[in-house]
Amino acid sequence: MSDTFDESEIRFRSDVTVELVKHSAGDQDVLWAARVSTAGEKSLDELQKDPERSKGLINYLMRDKHGSPFEHNSMTFFVSAPIFVFREFHRHRVGWSYNEESGRYRELQPVFYVPAEDRKLVQQGKPGAYDFVDGTAEQFKIVGESTRESYRQAYRAYQEMLAAGVAREVARTTLPVGLYSSMYATCNARSLMHFLGLRTRRDDAAYPSFPQREIEMVAEKLEAAWAELMPLTYAAFNMNGRVAP
Ligand SMILES: Cc1cc2nc3c(=O)[nH]c(=O)nc-3n(C[C@H](O)[C@H](O)[C@H](O)COP(=O)(O)OP(=O)(O)OC[C@H]3O[C@@H](n4cnc5c(N)ncnc54)[C@H](O)[C@@H]3O)c2cc1C
Repeated sequence: MSDTFDESEIRFRSDVTVELVKHSAGDQDVLWAARVSTAGEKSLDELQKDPERSKGLINYLMRDKHGSPFEHNSMTFFVSAPIFVFREFHRHRVGWSYNEESGRYRELQPVFYVPAEDRKLVQQGKPGAYDFVDGTAEQFKIVGESTRESYRQAYRAYQEMLAAGVAREVARTTLPVGLYSSMYATCNARSLMHFLGLRTRRDDAAYPSFPQREIEMVAEKLEAAWAELMPLTYAAFNMNGRVAP
């Protein structure tokens, strides 16, 4: 261990952070974009007219997959989650912008993921459609102990290399995917719906997905924030099988 590193600084977490830091997003953004089709430059004037018609229009756009009106809005989230979640997250290329903390320019903080007691530990079924069931007390114990021990060892090695003057970008090679990272992620309602369709598991989905629980924890928080901003769009998404238009 290096002279400067105190092992008690290592933190273990079982949760994820999602904060909506900036947004310009509301159901009205869908409506004015869609109504340019029929009202041209007057589409903004029609915003407050007839809420029932507005609801019907959003539902029609969702059902018939007229997707582009759902792109005229923006939400920026701060996300802190383990690196293995970010690996999955960054596969979503379209309608998403990302900026993540650097392991080259800053010393990575000793915060690591350990599954919570209610995290199901045993998988059954076939690839692509696994079911997960509770682990035994013994399995939970070995997960907790082994992850903590290997995190401590890895971070110790990282600190030893830094103390010996090795560059951060080289020393970080020892760190595991259970390390927390942080990023800003900006999306619009259409790209978020695509993400939610794939990264949440819901029985009422037209096309059920089987995401890893930890990215689903992030997705649930994104979904809760978005639902408040765009309630009509959110309701239409659910009513139409949670399929992005
Ligand atoms: C349950 C689950 C398991 C997975 N398992 C694996 C795995 O084992 N290995 C693995 O590598 N990945 C895996 N993935 C990742 C998956 O293959 C996708 O990369 C990820 O879900 C992002 O989806 P996307 O490409 O539709 O999203 P985006 O990149 O946001 O793209 C959105 C849409 O744009 C269109 N599009 C984007 N890029 C192109 C392109 N180049 N050409 C044509 N159309 C394009 C497509 O219609 C696409 O659906 C898994 C995903 C899930 C949800």
